Amino acid sequence: MRRYLIAGNWKMNCGPGRTSELLQGIKELSPQIPEAVDVLVCPPEISLTTASEVLNDYDVYLGAQNVHYEDEGAFTGEVSTGMLKEVGCSYVIIGHSERREYFGETDKTVNAKVIKALLDDLKPVLCVGESLAQRKKEVHKKMVKKQVQAALNSVKENNVSDVVIAYEPIWAIGTGETATPEQAQEMHEMIRSVLSELYDEDAADAIRILYGGSMKPHNAEELLSQPDVDGGLIGGASLKADSFTDIINIAE
Ligand code: 13P
Repeated sequence: MRRYLIAGNWKMNCGPGRTSELLQGIKELSPQIPEAVDVLVCPPEISLTTASEVLNDYDVYLGAQNVHYEDEGAFTGEVSTGMLKEVGCSYVIIGHSERREYFGETDKTVNAKVIKALLDDLKPVLCVGESLAQRKKEVHKKMVKKQVQAALNSVKENNVSDVVIAYEPIWAIGTGETATPEQAQEMHEMIRSVLSELYDEDAADAIRILYGGSMKPHNAEELLSQPDVDGGLIGGASLKADSFTDIINIAE
């Protein structure tokens, strides 16, 4: 049985001060995280230490938005898995479409990062998703299948259950336009069948597949009720304590 994961990707929002306020707000509105739900927040790197201190023993996981695949060295502007763990991270988002589009992430770097994260005991939240042009050309399934296969290249079955996949159609990110629950379910089911081909059915059944792209309190229930939708990777709505906790409560 897969547990829901409700994850906030704060993107480039919230320095340490605002991070502290937002997390206090979430704690006040939801002092007790519902039993059946895992909750994750991914603030910018500069705010991770503050987030870790504010979260303290609150039942919410901490994650980063990116990581490098080397341990250390001359990689200006990058951080390593060890550094993320040192500040309390247990998850890391890898291959978000914004990183692929603006920062040159490729299937190859995404694969290297997924492998490195797993090796060092960080759970990767692997992002995949098609553009609007790809959907219009009806190659979306093929593209997403390729992204999943490439990202999991050489990942062994014994640790693949730690991977979380986030299906994020690019046309739904920050646009207010959401995939319909049927569109989301169709893609999630396809991704699970790809996982089953790469591993086996048990492994595929254990992997959580989140939906991301304008998930809000008003559409979360329908999306989360789909059999292969195991949670959400939430951008805009994770930046407000009330909308984020509303979605947590919907997942319960
Ligand atoms: P929005 O929820 O703002 O559309 O962002 C989704 C996303 O990109 C999460 O990673």
